[in-house]
Amino acid sequence: MKEKFYIFLGPPGAGKGTQAKYIADKFNYHQISTGDILRYNVDQGTELGKIAHSYISEGKLVPDDIILDLVKDYLGRFRGQANGFIFDGFPRTIDQAEGLNEILQENQNKIDKVIYFNVDEQTIIARNINRRVCPKCKKVYNLLVKPPEHDLLCDICQVELLQREDDKPDVISDRLNVYKAKTEPLIDFYKQTDKFVEINGQLSVEQVAIHLEKEINGI
Ligand code: AMP
Repeated sequence: MKEKFYIFLGPPGAGKGTQAKYIADKFNYHQISTGDILRYNVDQGTELGKIAHSYISEGKLVPDDIILDLVKDYLGRFRGQANGFIFDGFPRTIDQAEGLNEILQENQNKIDKVIYFNVDEQTIIARNINRRVCPKCKKVYNLLVKPPEHDLLCDICQVELLQREDDKPDVISDRLNVYKAKTEPLIDFYKQTDKFVEINGQLSVEQVAIHLEKEINGI
């Protein structure tokens, strides 16, 4: 069966990562989160990590050529192992979107759907400020809607949850400005195709998942 390619598009904190993980696990897709891959490299102290950290810590985008090389490498390594790929937090610029089209065309692949998570700005800010992550297993919590069972400890690892440095209020506003300037134009870019679908990202995690399942299975 031909592999499918989905893009989860939306502002930081829209729920793309949570939903991409859920859908990927349930329907055997490979999740490609460029943010997660970059953070892993930062943690490991790789050359890529050292370069990426200077951008991430200031809420800026890592340059397009670096991101496109990284995605091409991941696609090459994981092709043929699952039902397809979910891109989460990628593409983030028009150049990345065009680069992705070229990478996919090289293998006679194409985007199947672009799912845009529509969430208002107040909710975005609240979600980012309240996001906490387990430094060990990387499970993501939200102190408002998905808090840990005990204090600020990971339910699985029992270690103290941390706030991402780019979720601190001053960096969040920079990330939102970058989103509006560089990533929001992708909405119109993909609206010109017949692949664009909008979902209400304000809904609960469970409700958003129901809508997504319909989109993924409805093809
Ligand atoms: P995320 O986890 O998707 O919120 O990404 C965290 C940070 O990683 C972003 O603020 C950027 O600095 C960087 N990053 C992640 N994905 C990309 C991308 N596709 N293009 C450029 N920078 C990215």
